[in-house]
Amino acid sequence: MSPVKPQPANRIILLGAPGAGKGTVAKALVDLFGLSHLSTGDMLRAAVAAGTPLGVQAKSFMDAGALVPDELMVGLIADRVQQPDCKSPSGVVRFLLDGFPRTLPQADALDAGQLGPDLVVYLAVDDAIIVDRLCGRRTCPGCGSPFHIHFAPPKVDGICDRCGTALVHRSDDQEAAIRKRLEAFHRQTGPLVGRYAACLVTIDGAQAPADVLAQVVRTLRARGAIVENAGQTANVVS
Ligand code: AMP
Repeated sequence: MSPVKPQPANRIILLGAPGAGKGTVAKALVDLFGLSHLSTGDMLRAAVAAGTPLGVQAKSFMDAGALVPDELMVGLIADRVQQPDCKSPSGVVRFLLDGFPRTLPQADALDAGQLGPDLVVYLAVDDAIIVDRLCGRRTCPGCGSPFHIHFAPPKVDGICDRCGTALVHRSDDQEAAIRKRLEAFHRQTGPLVGRYAACLVTIDGAQAPADVLAQVVRTLRARGAIVENAGQTANVVS
């Protein structure tokens, strides 16, 4: 009998603590695999910046390092996955979720909409490393590029190399908020590791970023994921 072929991975979740590297990996995967990157953190920050009703409601939770209530998050994602960029030409829903689900009720909502993941990539990183990473993280509000004051400093102090915008130290990247975000991660998001055990691949997110990305790309390719940009993939995966 021939081996069972795995289902192609159309709906992928990146799971990991804040600062585990989900955003960095996601941006690279979008270029390589042509997936739509749905980052709930980015969506919420855009809503806060635009002063929308969602942004006004979410801001105090985010500043405190707490999770935004499930009903707001589920509504946000339910609307977003209906957009045309989340459908393949044959109508299959495809996405790369970064930062959602973060709770069991959010995972339930995906299942209820027949949108459960084909593949969950869990980036595992120790808390001490996360605190070092996030305290020094500086983010570009213009193009989203991440920097780090020690590990990846910009060429000109405080200025984005890519678009010249002044970098910010996110209010939720201050140490007190980071500790709260980690606590929320372990208590509320941790149970998802068990929930998704059947389709979960754990990757050591403490490795160098290029090694993390290469391992994630190999995992996606092994799972038949999607339309690849062969030129770029060749640079990442030997
Ligand atoms: P992130 O950039 O993914 O670390 O998200 C930044 C903040 O946005 C989090 O600390 C939460 O306050 C909020 N947030 C993002 N995604 C979710 C989610 N799925 N559920 C609840 N809150 C979220």
